Amino acid sequence: MCLPKRNRHESGKTMLDTKKIRKDFKILNRKIWAGKTLVYFDNAATTQKPQVVIDSLVNYYENYNANIHRGVHKLAEEATEAYEKVREKVRDFVGATKNDEVIFTRNTTESINLLAYSLGESLEEGDEVLISEMEHHSNIIPWYLLRDRKKITVKFIPITKNYELDYSALEKLINKKTKIISITHKSNVLGTVNDIKRIAQIAKNNGSILIIDAAQSVPHMKVDFQDLGCDFLVFSSHKMCGPTGVGVLVGKKELLEKMPPFLGGGEMIRKVTFEGFTPNDVPWKFEAGTPNIADVIAFGTAIDYIESLGIENIYKYECGLTEYCLSKLKQFDFLKIYNSSGTGIVTFSNPLVHPHDIATIVDQYGVAIRAGHHCAQPLMKRLNVSATARASFYFYNTKEEIDLFIEALKKAFDYFKVGACKKLNPVGG
Ligand SMILES: *Cc1c(COP(=O)(O)O)cnc(C)c1O
Repeated sequence: MCLPKRNRHESGKTMLDTKKIRKDFKILNRKIWAGKTLVYFDNAATTQKPQVVIDSLVNYYENYNANIHRGVHKLAEEATEAYEKVREKVRDFVGATKNDEVIFTRNTTESINLLAYSLGESLEEGDEVLISEMEHHSNIIPWYLLRDRKKITVKFIPITKNYELDYSALEKLINKKTKIISITHKSNVLGTVNDIKRIAQIAKNNGSILIIDAAQSVPHMKVDFQDLGCDFLVFSSHKMCGPTGVGVLVGKKELLEKMPPFLGGGEMIRKVTFEGFTPNDVPWKFEAGTPNIADVIAFGTAIDYIESLGIENIYKYECGLTEYCLSKLKQFDFLKIYNSSGTGIVTFSNPLVHPHDIATIVDQYGVAIRAGHHCAQPLMKRLNVSATARASFYFYNTKEEIDLFIEALKKAFDYFKVGACKKLNPVGG
């Protein structure tokens, strides 16, 4: 678990030099409309890339582009070394023990599909998979597909009225048939950070495998695979300053070794005959075909960049931004704010104005926020809305940008006369 809520105020002491940092992101100077500079608050969807990451991609293609692992020439060696180095970086960044525990996929979604398929092979009719009501679709659909393939049951751990996971419900739901628990570390809608250590203990006592969707946590807070005590951890490069097209699956080696391959083809084999094949060792067993070499290498540069800032500093800084934004949003007392213990994500709605309309108007002022179901339709159902508006921050955002966002929101609410109607349509809870 991250720092407790009361420590959020420490952000004043942060060591991040945002002014300097922002120079690394040219896009942040982009004029969106006449005179309106971009305010990018859609970081939970994807983050911007610092110049060093873009340079790293160009450098690869300009200087040592080659296919990896099977070549003996100089370029192939350089590319292979650079690619495999990133495996070490990821290992250290998330506290895995061995290089072999790090597998590159295309994204979080593919990592979960890999797990649902390969782990799923050992499940039997009547077995159960536990997920939660706050999951992203990418941690729901792969389990539905497995359910249809293997006649298993998928159950949802409910959330409380404070938008936290209901741990006592989890204890009631778990049973001998629960083979897998797959749960988000941090909700992409509510910002809620789940207590993975606590869940890991419950899973362990029950002999269940625990998968953590860390797409929103790894980019924003210290995450330690061994310390959390889970079996698998998945996340995406593009949400932490890296390129799109790279996902990570970290898993315990003894489990990975027992799992059947997900995709078949080159790279993932040791030997192929007219009769069959012998799979390669972990991790290559799960990396079929030519991988996304350039983007993996640039992802390594993104990790270096984040480490140069310090993940703890990033976390504290975002806590400060979140507190600031929430305090400013209070003036709109007609808004329903889905405020949880989490940081970095602020989600809100009002029944009188559709979130898409809010997002469209603030966009006129250069402010990029997201409106919709955020790939979490079951959660929307639980919250009793069809959509919400969401602002999500990263270390390059500033309080000045939040002020611009609040000004833009004022314009939107004035336009739709939301404030004037609030007495007629009070928002509950
Ligand atoms: C973004 C996100 C995903 C999916 O990530 P992709 O990179 O689109 O595969 C899964 N879970 C959470 C919590 C997310 O925020």
